[in-house]
Amino acid sequence: MPRRIMSLKEVRDQGPRHRVRNLRSISINTEDKTAWIQDGATIGEVYYRIAEKNKTLAFVGGVCPTDGVGGHFSGGGYGMMSRQFGTVADNIIDAKLINANGRIHDRESMGEDHFWAIRGGGGTSFGIIISWKVKLLDIPEKVTVFNVT
Ligand SMILES: Cc1cc2nc3c(=O)[nH]c(=O)nc-3n(C[C@H](O)[C@H](O)[C@H](O)COP(=O)(O)OP(=O)(O)OC[C@H]3O[C@@H](n4cnc5c(N)ncnc54)[C@H](O)[C@@H]3O)c2cc1C
Repeated sequence: MPRRIMSLKEVRDQGPRHRVRNLRSISINTEDKTAWIQDGATIGEVYYRIAEKNKTLAFVGGVCPTDGVGGHFSGGGYGMMSRQFGTVADNIIDAKLINANGRIHDRESMGEDHFWAIRGGGGTSFGIIISWKVKLLDIPEKVTVFNVT
């Protein structure tokens, strides 16, 4: 059956996360301790994929595993490890985005001001982000588990 073409209004009403939900690959480089993360992934998927590859690497981010990378990273992202390692925004080293003219940019071609704005300036405002390159953090193999009652 042929796929139905969506109207512009339908696309707009669904929001960026729906438009990027099939872009969810997470590519981890344990050598240089970085990862490219596509915007449709959730932060829970990010933590899981990193832990699968290496038990002493992690990523600073929030506590809700179902948060989308798109909104979470664009908003700055604060988590349990932020006092030591900073926010998500502090640990983003590159990104790919589509601007209003449909052009794809990376950190170099978008420029440092634009790159600064997408890391904490809020989703939607500065283009559709496709993927982020982030720094992974060294953590001890043993972690502390606690309950808040
Ligand atoms: C239960 C819960 C716990 C949370 N815990 C934390 C926490 O510990 N730390 C913390 O910092 N925050 C936390 N948050 C906040 C969370 O990070 C934000 O709500 C974030 O915006 C969620 O992103 P999303 O992509 O899931 O949401 P969405 O609603 O899909 O997106 C949020 C905004 O970003 C835009 N956006 C999404 N994807 C893209 C894209 N690819 N390109 C451009 N714009 C885009 C959307 O248009 C929208 O304006 C929590 C939220 C919840 C509900």
